[in-house]
Amino acid sequence: MSIKENVARIRKEMEAAAIAAGRDPKEILLCAATKMNDAAAVREAIAAGVDCCGENKVQELTAKLAENAYEGAPVHFIGHLQTNKVKFVVGKVDLIQSVDSERLLTAIDKEAKKQGIIQDILLEVNIGGEESKSGFRPDDILPLVDKLPEYPNIRVKGLMTIPPISQKNGDNVKFFQKMCNISVDIIAKKEDNDMAKYLSMGMSDDFTDAIACGSTMIRVGTAIFGARDYTKLHQT
Ligand SMILES: *Cc1c(COP(=O)(O)O)cnc(C)c1O
Repeated sequence: MSIKENVARIRKEMEAAAIAAGRDPKEILLCAATKMNDAAAVREAIAAGVDCCGENKVQELTAKLAENAYEGAPVHFIGHLQTNKVKFVVGKVDLIQSVDSERLLTAIDKEAKKQGIIQDILLEVNIGGEESKSGFRPDDILPLVDKLPEYPNIRVKGLMTIPPISQKNGDNVKFFQKMCNISVDIIAKKEDNDMAKYLSMGMSDDFTDAIACGSTMIRVGTAIFGARDYTKLHQT
């Protein structure tokens, strides 16, 4: 199947999942997770109508930006970001989805201030409490929201999560529901819908469950581009 056919199929599945949940399909964005796919594949996905692109690695982002690969679509950063690399990402992407520590918040705020911009971000939540994963603990989010004035050059637009790898269909529903509850709590506390505008959750295997639980942005790689070829990966 071509990228175009895949995007069309995913759109249909998104729409069906939204309608089944009594939601407006238009409120859910499709973010193409473009890691390990080249500029030509990224352009095809944009032409097929994805809403945005999400890149994982600073090196890939920089290379594809230089090739104008994302022209016509917003670009997001969705991978783990080291504080010493923020200057390659801040001001270069529309949204940093994967902000996973206060140290990183501080570094992004400082770089944004230096550039004279406000950087939009999402707070990444380690919803499964996994040792191996970065992200804020669910209980850290509401207290953190109170501390956001300490970061004047950052604008929080919502939450993102990568749940544990599931064993079977439906395994992640409980995590998606928890994420949705945190989002609702933020809105209730801050009376600010914009601060919880995005709830980024759901990937190739579980995006219909995520939509049923309130996701407003799914990040899809494999179902758009096919399986990633890890043999091509340069070890860095
Ligand atoms: C790769 C990736 C995805 C997409 O995963 P697929 O299973 O290929 O759809 C989503 N989010 C993040 C952060 C990723 O790194």
